[in-house]
Amino acid sequence: MTAHWQSEQRNRAHDDMLQMVAKGVPLSEILNTIVKTIEFEEQTAQCSILLLDEEGKHLLSGAAPSLPDFYNDAINGIEIGMGVGSCGTAAYLGKRVIVEDIMNHDYWKPYSSLAQSAGLGSCWSEPILSTEGKVLGTFAIYHSVATKLLQSDIERISFAANLAAIAIENSKTRAELERRAYSDYLTGLPNRRYFIEEAEIELSRFHRYGGELSLIMFDIDRFKQVNDDYGHSIGDRVLQKIADICRVLLRDIDIIGRIGGEEFAIVLPQTDAEEALHVAERLRIAISQAQVSVEELQPRFTASFGVVAADKGTSEIDMLLNQADTALYEAKESGRNRVCMAKKV
Ligand code: GH3
Ligand code: MG
Ligand code: MG
Repeated sequence: MTAHWQSEQRNRAHDDMLQMVAKGVPLSEILNTIVKTIEFEEQTAQCSILLLDEEGKHLLSGAAPSLPDFYNDAINGIEIGMGVGSCGTAAYLGKRVIVEDIMNHDYWKPYSSLAQSAGLGSCWSEPILSTEGKVLGTFAIYHSVATKLLQSDIERISFAANLAAIAIENSKTRAELERRAYSDYLTGLPNRRYFIEEAEIELSRFHRYGGELSLIMFDIDRFKQVNDDYGHSIGDRVLQKIADICRVLLRDIDIIGRIGGEEFAIVLPQTDAEEALHVAERLRIAISQAQVSVEELQPRFTASFGVVAADKGTSEIDMLLNQADTALYEAKESGRNRVCMAKKV
C-alpha cells in the first residue's frame, strides 16, 4: 500500500462520511463505515467505536462489526475510569492509551480473560474529541497478538477518531435542532405544531383500535393581571411551574402541548370523559395550590379547563380542540378556576 494510495483512500473516506452526514444517514451506519474503512486499510486490525453517554460516565456501543458479540455486550455500559481497559482509561483521561500487550498490562487485569476469549492481544485507544475538546467516545484498534505502535498507526488512529468526531458532533447538533423545532423554549413542552402532529397520530390509533380518547384544554386565569402585578419574568416562571405540574401529574403516554401563550392542551389516550374530568380536576387543584418562589410576594394563579371525549365522528384533532375551547369558555364565564365538560350534540 503506497503512501499516495493511502492518502487518496483517506480523502475518499472523508468525503464519503461527509456525504452520509449530509444525507442524514443514521449515526450507527456512518460509524460502521468508518470502522470498516480503517479495517480495510489495516487488514490485521479489528476496530471499535464506543460513545460516551449523556452523563459522561459510561461507554456505549457505537460500532464494532468485527468484534464478537459477547465481547461488545460485556463492554457496553462500562463505567470509565483509570485502569478500565484502554478505552475506559482513554475516555477518562481524554488522552490516547496504548496497550501493546493486553496480557501484561495493569489496565487490563480485570478484563484479561474476556480479552483472551475474544482473541485480543493489543488495544490502542484514541479519545474522540469534540471541537471544544470534550470527550465524545473512543476509537480503538485491536490486534490478535501483542503489537507495537508505529508512527503510521498514530496517524491512522487520529484520522479515524477525527472522522468519528465529525459524525458524532453532527448527529448531536441535528438532534438538538429537532428538539428546538418541536418544543417550546420556555417550558420544554411540545409546541402547537408538534402537539397537533402527535395528537393526530393518537387519534388515528383510537379510530383503528377503538378504546377511549379524551382531550383537556386549559387557560390560565387573568394571566395578564399576573404579568401586570409581578412582571413578565414571574409570568414566565408561572408558565414553567404549570408545565412541571403537568409533567408530574400526567402519564408518559399523555401528550401535553403549549398551544398558545397561556393555553395548554393534553391528549389522554385510553381515557374516557369521566376519567379525563378527574385528571383535569387534579390539575386544577394542583395549579391553584402551586407557588413560584418570589421574594416576599406570593403570586397565586388558577386555570380554567374544558374537557371533551372523542367519538366515531371525531375526524380531526381540531374538532376536539374547538369543542374543548367552548367548554373552557363556559368555565371562564361561570367564574374561572373550574372544569367544564363539552356538551355533545
Ligand atoms: P382570562 O382569564 O380571560 O384568560 O384572562 P387572561 O388575562 O389570562 O387573558 P388574556 O388573553 O387577556 O391575556 C393573556 C396574557 O398572557 C397576555 C400575555 O401577556 C400573557 N402571555 C402570553 N404568553 C406569555 C409568555 O410567554 N410569558 C408571559 N409572562 N406572559 C404571556
Ligand atoms: Mg388565553
Ligand atoms: Mg388566560
